[in-house]
Amino acid sequence: MSISGKPPYDPENIFARILRGEIPCKRVHEDGHALAFHDIAPQAPVHVLVIPKGEWCSAADFHAGAEAEEVAGFWRAVALVARQLGLEETGYRVLSNMGPDAGQEVGHFHVHIFGGRRLGRMVP
Ligand code: C5P
Repeated sequence: MSISGKPPYDPENIFARILRGEIPCKRVHEDGHALAFHDIAPQAPVHVLVIPKGEWCSAADFHAGAEAEEVAGFWRAVALVARQLGLEETGYRVLSNMGPDAGQEVGHFHVHIFGGRRLGRMVP
């Protein structure tokens, strides 16, 4: 734990290693701010992860560490990927797990894009 109580970013987390090209992924999109790839254990016909290039653990880093331009660039990439996947017309869901109560498995901020079928109601 850091002084702030937030766990420090671990540069050896699996998404950091994917960003460095040490572990392969099925890439969908990459730009200066984000990388998007198919989830290895898809929960819907379309299940893509979008990860920022910055070393962010969670949304807490949006106001501590990340530049506004990086945050905007990341969310632009999310929208672009959804369009690229043909989900704009049908709709899709964007979800992010942050911290232990949400079951975040990988300590590099990421959003899931789900689509390709009618999605069930979201329940906590
Ligand atoms: O939001 P959460 O941290 O629980 O999700 C992590 C996601 O990363 C899982 O859906 C898992 O299948 C995915 N994953 C992946 N490729 C890896 C490791 C995990 O797509 N190499």
